[in-house]
Amino acid sequence: MTQTSTTVPQKRSAEDLTSTAMEQQQVAKQPALANGEANGHANGASALPGLDASKLIITRADPTARAVPDEATACSGTETICTDHMITATWKASSGWSAPELKPYGPLTLMPTASVLHYATECFEGLKAYRGHDGRLRLFRPDRNAERMLMSTLRISLPGFDPRELEKLIVALMAVDGPKWLPRSRPGSFLYLRPAIIGTHPQLGVQAPREALLFITASFMPRMDSPPGGMRLHTNPEDMIRAWVGGFGYAKVGANYGPSLLATNEARERGFGQILWLYGPEGYCTEAGASNFFIVWRTREGALQLVTAPLDDKLILDGVTRRSVVELARERLKDELEVVERKYTIDEVLEADREGRLIEAFTAGTAFFICPVSQIRHRDYDIHIPMVKGESGQYTAKIKGWMSDIMYGKEEHPWGVVVQEEQ
Ligand SMILES: *Cc1c(COP(=O)(O)O)cnc(C)c1O
Repeated sequence: MTQTSTTVPQKRSAEDLTSTAMEQQQVAKQPALANGEANGHANGASALPGLDASKLIITRADPTARAVPDEATACSGTETICTDHMITATWKASSGWSAPELKPYGPLTLMPTASVLHYATECFEGLKAYRGHDGRLRLFRPDRNAERMLMSTLRISLPGFDPRELEKLIVALMAVDGPKWLPRSRPGSFLYLRPAIIGTHPQLGVQAPREALLFITASFMPRMDSPPGGMRLHTNPEDMIRAWVGGFGYAKVGANYGPSLLATNEARERGFGQILWLYGPEGYCTEAGASNFFIVWRTREGALQLVTAPLDDKLILDGVTRRSVVELARERLKDELEVVERKYTIDEVLEADREGRLIEAFTAGTAFFICPVSQIRHRDYDIHIPMVKGESGQYTAKIKGWMSDIMYGKEEHPWGVVVQEEQ
């Protein structure tokens, strides 16, 4: 009796191989993400050490070595000025996360074969620390940045961690550097915090890195929320897109940004601040540069709406600022306007403009905060957006004021997380 080795292909049990399912598996495979123990790579059974802020090793810089420049000087150079310290933590598939270190700011060393340098295994976050008018130091919804960082990290097969531990490390850096670099004598100022994770595994070959580095820096960043005359946007070149359905535009991975610079530089040369990225043959409005984008218009039926692109097709980044604008407007402007998250096209914006229904536009993100938009150029058309309050529309100004009051402690709010500083 011979056994045939060729059989009818077996139908496999229903296996979900969608990206969403893969992402969920990645999260499920992170052991004990919730309790801060044993988090690490997609490595279910391991009990390797997770990222643990309580193990922070502190090595102090000489506090007299560097003086704190004023904001204008700090932002006028060609290099980002960072504070005295940074935080680092390393991870290895074989040993999990190392004890994080807070140490003097300085260069990193990497092998030329490091994964990040070849395969863009990098993701980052951006948030600010605000010196309040009440003298206290605050972060704005840092839990959201920490959770988003985990999402981005897993998207590029870097190791997982408990987001609460990342949040504690961010707080630890500001607790040490806040008093000197964001002094109480400068209420209303901020520093920019940049957590990032990179694949450091020194082995060529397209594979998930088995070594990684987390680092957090704090630096000066210019204020960009009120360019004279408002932000001018140019839509993207017809044959270029920033992100696509099925891609990774929703993750804050470095790979999204480098390739966008070609269009951005071209627009800058023509006097525009950012690209308004459209998507598909329909020309859906998605994001403006690395900020989310909002329009206020009146519908033909006469309803006043605050409109922004939706998150569900994973084209755009789930901005903390975007989310906060949506939540605040739903709560505080509910008697005046309707907040709508939906797909809308540049043709709809053009039409609203032609019919005099376009009321305001602004971009929203940590770096540019709430930035009023005064003009959009799309092919042969120029859309001029009213600025009834001079440098801003009235709803833009209202929302910006509320957010700013929370950030700088004029309004006590759960989104404003106070950092207990040293001294
Ligand atoms: C960071 C970023 C934003 C803004 O997100 P915030 O959390 O509000 O800072 C929007 N779009 C893109 C593409 C981004 O990278």
